[in-house]
Amino acid sequence: MDTDPNCLFCKIAAGEIKADLLHRDEWHVAFRDANPQAPFHALLVPVKHISTLDDLANEEGRLIGDILLSATRLARENDLVRGGYRLVWNCGPDAGQSVYHIHLHVLGGRRMAWPPG
Ligand code: AMP
Repeated sequence: MDTDPNCLFCKIAAGEIKADLLHRDEWHVAFRDANPQAPFHALLVPVKHISTLDDLANEEGRLIGDILLSATRLARENDLVRGGYRLVWNCGPDAGQSVYHIHLHVLGGRRMAWPPG
């Protein structure tokens, strides 16, 4: 499994840095965002180090699909479905990506504006 020893999310996925874990399997982890932007704010992160969505390879489609399904499961488990929720992948500086290891944000529990800032 490719990991980057200097990457924060690789370290969280490996259990070397603590996080409030919501899910773990062989391929991805989910944990609460340290600086939540909504009452529920989780991040889903592949164990494999992939810097940006632009680095995804075709064979990683299954991994991304599993992460997406895991996000919808988390939304159901945390009672977000009735009110609705938002899934966000930031890619690159204009989108505000600050950690260069891909992650899916799951935000819910409050009404959100559109378009995003
Ligand atoms: P992005 O701006 O899309 O790259 O999102 C990175 C997210 O990681 C931000 O929402 C941060 O609050 C979150 N974050 C940074 N460090 C940690 C950490 N140690 N544990 C949990 N979340 C973190």
